[in-house]
Amino acid sequence: MGFSEFLGNGRVVTALRGMLSAERVPHAMLFSGPRGVGKFTLARMFAQAANCERLKDDFCGECDSCRRIALLADVQPLVEQGLAQRGERPDNSTVERIPLLIQTHPDVWAVVPDPVRAKDPVARPMLRMGQLRAVQRAAYFKPKGRRRVFILDGAETMRWDLSGIFLKILEEPPESATLILLAPNPFLLQSTIRSRCLQFSLAALTSEEVEEILRTRTQLNAEDRKLAAQYSEGCPGTALELDVAAVAALHRGALTVLERAVELRGISHLFASTSALAKSQEIAFENVLEVFYSLLTDLLDLSSSSSKKTLRNPALRRELETLSKKVDVAWITKAVEGFDVLHSRMRRNINRSLGLDAVAISLARPAPVPGNSDLR
Ligand SMILES: [Zn+2]
Repeated sequence: MGFSEFLGNGRVVTALRGMLSAERVPHAMLFSGPRGVGKFTLARMFAQAANCERLKDDFCGECDSCRRIALLADVQPLVEQGLAQRGERPDNSTVERIPLLIQTHPDVWAVVPDPVRAKDPVARPMLRMGQLRAVQRAAYFKPKGRRRVFILDGAETMRWDLSGIFLKILEEPPESATLILLAPNPFLLQSTIRSRCLQFSLAALTSEEVEEILRTRTQLNAEDRKLAAQYSEGCPGTALELDVAAVAALHRGALTVLERAVELRGISHLFASTSALAKSQEIAFENVLEVFYSLLTDLLDLSSSSSKKTLRNPALRRELETLSKKVDVAWITKAVEGFDVLHSRMRRNINRSLGLDAVAISLARPAPVPGNSDLR
C-alpha cells in the first residue's frame, strides 16, 4: 500500500511526497488532467499520506486513518447515500442548507458536484454555494490528525461568482488545511483562483503503461488489454471501467458501416447502422470518431503494404484485410476527410447522428478501382 500503487505521473507523486516530508504543504493545489487519469485517486492518497499514523510522506493503508480515508476510493455509493438522506426532489434552499459532503474521516472531505435531483431536471451537477460555505467554515477547525484535506472534485463546475468564497479562504489561509481542486483543464478555472493554487498537471499514460495496469488488476487477456488501453486514451481509470465487450461491439459496428459504404448495400441499411452506432451505449461521440480513425488507419496500412503490420485493431485483422482489397488510398483519404469535417462540425455542436449519416452517404458512392494509385 502507498503511493507506489499510483501508476504513471511519477514526477507529480515525487513532488507531493517531497512537500510532505519537508512539511511544506501548500494551502491550495490544483490537479488537472483528463477524466480517468487519476486526479481523485491521487488527491485521496495525498489525504491518506497527510494523516497516516505511521508514515510521514507515504501511507501504510492499514492504520485507522488510512482505512477510513480509503473508503473514498468508492465514492459513488457515498454520494447516493448523501442524496438519499436529503430526500427525493429537494428544493433549492434544501440543497444549499443540506450540502452534499462526503466524509469518512474527521479531517478529510470529498466535495463533488451536486447531482441534485431537484424540480429542475436540466440542472447540471455543480459545486454549490452551500458546499463551499461548509468547506469555508470547516477549514479553520483544528485537525484531529495532522492535516485537514478538502478534495473539490469538478472545481470547474463552480459558478464564477462563488469563487469569492474560495479567495477568502486563500487570503486568510487556515493553519493546517489544504484544498485540492480537481479539474480537467486549469483554464476552466477563474485566473484569480488558478494563480493561488500550486498546479500539478497529470498527463495521459502510454498504451504500454495502461496495458501493464490492466495486466496486474484485471483478468483481461492480452488482446482485450490492448484494446482497452487503446480506447482509454491513456487514462487508467477509464481503462479499468471499460466494458471491453461493448467497445469491441462498437469497433465491429464501425467496421460494418465502412463495409456497407464500400459494398453499396442499400442506403436504408446504412442509416440504420449509423444512427444505431451514434446512439450506442453511453459512449462519447468523439470516441466513436476515434474508432473510425483507427479503422481507417489500419485499412491504410493494409492496403499500402503487404507486410504484416501491427494493427490498431488486431481483433478485426481478417475483416480489415478483406476490406482493404476493395478500397484504395484515395477512398480512405476521402473517408478521413469526411470524418475530419464531421469532427469540426461536432465541435460546433451539430446534431450527431445527422452528421454521421451524411458522411456515410458520401462514402456510399462507388469505390474507385483498387490498385491504380501509388500508395505511398
Ligand atoms: Zn496509515
